[in-house]
Formats: sequence, structure tokens, C-alpha cells
Amino acid sequence: MMENSKQVIRSIVIVGGGTSGWMTAAALSHFFKDKPVKLTLIESSTIGTIGVGEATIPTLRRFYSKLGFSDFDVIKATNATCKLGIEFKDWKQKGSRFIHPFGLFGQGTKEVDFHHYWNRARLAGEAELLSEFSLGASLALNNKFVLPSITPSSQLDIFDWALHFDAALFANLMKEFSLAHGVMLKDNVVEKVNVAQSTGNIASVTLDSGELVEGDLFVDCSGFKSLLLQEALKTGYQDWSDYLVCDRAVAVQTQARENPIVRTISQAQESGWTWKIPLQHRTGNGHVYSSQFISDDEATSTLVEQLDGEMLHTPRMFSFTPGRAEKAWNKNCIAVGLSSGFLEPLESTSIALVETAIEKILLSVKDASYTEQVRDRFNQVTALEYERVRDFIILHYKLTHRTDSAMWRYCQQMAIPEELASKMQAFSRDGSIKSYPWEIFGKDSWLAIYDGFDFRPDNFSPKALNMELGYLKKHLNFMKSSIDNAVELAPTHAEFLAQVAADEA
Ligand code: FAD
Repeated sequence: MMENSKQVIRSIVIVGGGTSGWMTAAALSHFFKDKPVKLTLIESSTIGTIGVGEATIPTLRRFYSKLGFSDFDVIKATNATCKLGIEFKDWKQKGSRFIHPFGLFGQGTKEVDFHHYWNRARLAGEAELLSEFSLGASLALNNKFVLPSITPSSQLDIFDWALHFDAALFANLMKEFSLAHGVMLKDNVVEKVNVAQSTGNIASVTLDSGELVEGDLFVDCSGFKSLLLQEALKTGYQDWSDYLVCDRAVAVQTQARENPIVRTISQAQESGWTWKIPLQHRTGNGHVYSSQFISDDEATSTLVEQLDGEMLHTPRMFSFTPGRAEKAWNKNCIAVGLSSGFLEPLESTSIALVETAIEKILLSVKDASYTEQVRDRFNQVTALEYERVRDFIILHYKLTHRTDSAMWRYCQQMAIPEELASKMQAFSRDGSIKSYPWEIFGKDSWLAIYDGFDFRPDNFSPKALNMELGYLKKHLNFMKSSIDNAVELAPTHAEFLAQVAADEA
């Protein structure tokens, strides 16, 4: 057992130089710029990185802006396009379509959230599509893009955005930043992880060159292998494949489209779903599927048959176990990225969980030391974060109306975590949406998914009766037309990207 005293950190060793390793190195080098903490990153160019992970959520923009990068810097450096949300096709049933935008729906009042008014109007036959009340969704569906106003005149102007980017180019950007801020790089294979018998801590790693690299704190960014946290420390893993049946993916890049869309496409298939992610120089495509219900060959054919550009390489296969490490921080080792856990990429949460892990590390080691309580708190919060993302993803499967294949029938019938069941009950009762701190997806995200699957309450908050129905209808029409006007005035996504390319700053 670790004594409760402060563990002082003089050196941190990061193992792995994928997106998570270099993001961690960049953030730590920025954070410790005035402190005598030595930072070393070990990566192996002979092993390589996972090479997928192109869709992000808005938190990424906050991450790089703290390091001093502007959106335009990152778009240019990573051949990125903008992302206003995810369009879900065929998920509710074949032929269905809805969008999960980053941003708010409508304008509520101080007393009551917008969706209660909308639901009241809907039940009275006076409103239809929820997405008409979201500027982000309307821009996304019209393939238009404009930067959100920094001084919004009302809630209607508020939306957020993210990037579709080349993750390898982003990792390079983080690498350049880290090296410029004093991180020492070793391009070597870690051959052995040396655990001190007396404490159970990692004392050092042995490289293929024979060199021993010692550290006070180790960050495991070694990807699915989880060399330190799992292979060396045998921390244990919670397997969530009963809830999340997809455990494989096949991915391939195709030539870029002329007018890249401003949203990710996720299209449900018989035994999983396919993605399309537009970048400026290529399109990322993939099929995430359940090996219980479809073979690798069939899954690859499903993907290839639906491509709309020429393949740039042969398709690559991935397999994973959805779940998380029992503890993301064990002894003196913190796992960040795939070594800490993986939930399928449906809502682009993997890199977001890297960012939140980094944010928590910075809070935990701010005095270049940590205690057992700090470590326990880190583990508690990480567990909650993963569980809440897990529940949000399960919701997409559980609410399907599809009965055309064994996988969808399984998903409809499967047991779900209690917390999710209670959230769904609360919503179906009266439209209440519970949300918590450290939850990546807020109320409007839950609302988008509930509504996209026609999971709607028969009731609304009685507070939404505080407006006469005729007035409410006028108010809704006003919102719709002010959103339509804003969409009309916005440039197309391609025009926006051309403005970024022409920007000299
Ligand atoms: P990796 O990229 O695997 O990096 C591991 C590093 O460890 C490499 O540098 C390697 O050299 C090093 N290493 C390993 N072993 C050794 C050793 N013995 N010695 C030295 N170095 C070693 N995320 C998103 O946010 N959005 C998405 O759209 C998305 N899509 C995905 C689709 C699929 C199919 C999959 C599988 C994942 C997806 N992800 C997505 C997740 C995303 O790819 C990862 O979270 C992200 O790339 C971070 O990976 P990583 O850095 O943890 O691991």
C-alpha cells in the first residue's frame, strides 16, 4: 500500500507517441515550463500508431487553444474540415435520418428548458422537427459553415463545432510543440518494464538499446497493448461487450470529395455501422461491426460496396474489447488513450477522453507531486466519465426500431445499466434530462438522440404552460425564421475552408 505522503515528481516518462502520447507531452511541457520536471517520451517508429481517429468533438479546440494554437493554425496543419455534428442514417429504421449537433436547441425561458415548450407545441400539433430549432443542425444539414458569434444575441445563436482532421498530422503538431518545449524523445522499443518489488511501482523501462529509463511517474500511451498499466501492472479491465456488441472495425481512405460535408456520417448497417469522415485531402471510411453477427470478409464487402471514391490503400482491420481499465491510475502509472480503455468511435469520444485525462493529470500533479487521495479521486472521476459516455453510446443501440437483423434484435432486448435505465425513465415520464458534472455529453446531446429515435415523453413540465399556445406558436415561428435567415447568410463549408486557406495570419 502506498503511504499517504506526497510523492514528489522530478521526472515523467511517457511511453507511446500516438495522438495520446504527444498530446500528453505537449500539455505537460506547457504546464511545467517553469518547474524542474524532466519529461521524456519513448516511441517506436518501427511499431507505428493506430492510424485512425479523425472525428473529434469541440473539446479538442479548447485543448489546443490552451497551448496557443488557433483554429486556423490547426485546420491548415492537419488538412481539417469543420464538423457541426453527426448525421445518423438508418439508425432508427432504414430510411430514417437525424442529426446530433454540437449546440443548443431553441430558446427556453429562465423557468423552463426549450424542449418542454417544443414538446407542448408538438403534442398540440403545432411543431414538427426539433432540428429546425438548432442553428448548428440547420447549418450542418445545409452544408454551410460560419464561426459562432462571440457575442450571441440569444440562445439561438449558440452552437459549437469541432474538426475532422488527420490525427497523424495533429500528433506531429503536438510533437513539434513538445520538442520545442524541452521534451526529450527516444525512438526506441520498450523491451521490458521493471517493477520495484518493494513498492509495486514502475522503477524504469529497458529499451532495445539496453538503456534504462527511470522515472517517478509513468504515463502509458502505448495503445491497445497497454504495456505498463496492463502488461506490467496487471491492473484489470472491465469488459462492456454485453452492452456494446461491436468489437471490430475495418477502415479505408478514399479520394477527397470536392465539397466536403460539414458533418460526420454514421450509417447503421445490419451488424454495425459505417462512418464517412471528410478531410480536405481524403475521406476516411470505416465499418464498425460485431464479430458475433458478421464475418470480417462480409464486413469488408459491406464497407467497400458503399464507398463513393477510389480506395487509397487496402482496408485495415482492428479488433478491440469495449471497456475500461479497472483503474486508469495504478501505482505510479497513469494510462491515457487506448491503453486506458476504448469505447467504439460512434460519438468520437476517444480523443476527447484523452483530453479530459490530461486535464485531470494537470490538476492532480500541479505541485509536481501527488498523494493517494488524489490518485483515488482521479480514478473515480475517470470511471464515471467512461461510464457516462458508455451509457450515451448504448442509448443509440437500445432505442433502435430495427428488427431486420439479429444484432438489432439483440440490442433492443439487451439489459442496460441501471443509471441509463433511470435516465430514460425520467425522460419518458415528463421530459426531464438528468445531467452531471464530468459528463461529456450535455442535455441537448441527450435530447438529440432521444428525439432522433422518436423516444418522446407524453408529458412536459407544467411550467411550459406559462405561455399561451398561440403566443408559443408565434415564438417558435420566429425562432425558425431567424435560424433560416442565419443559414441563408452563411457561406458554404467549402467557401469557409477557402477563406481559411487564404488567411495569411
Ligand atoms: P496508438 O496510436 O496506438 O499509439 C501507441 C504508441 O505506442 C505508438 O507511438 C507506438 O509506437 C508506441 N508503442 C507501442 N508499443 C511500444 C513499445 N514496445 N515501445 C515503444 N513504443 C511503443 N478517436 C476519436 O477521437 N475519433 C475517431 O473518429 C476515432 N475513430 C477510431 C476508429 C477506430 C476503428 C479505432 C480503433 C479507434 C478510433 N479512435 C477514434 C481512437 C483513436 O484512434 C485513439 O484514441 C487515438 O489515436 C489515440 O491512440 P493512442 O495514442 O492511445 O495509441
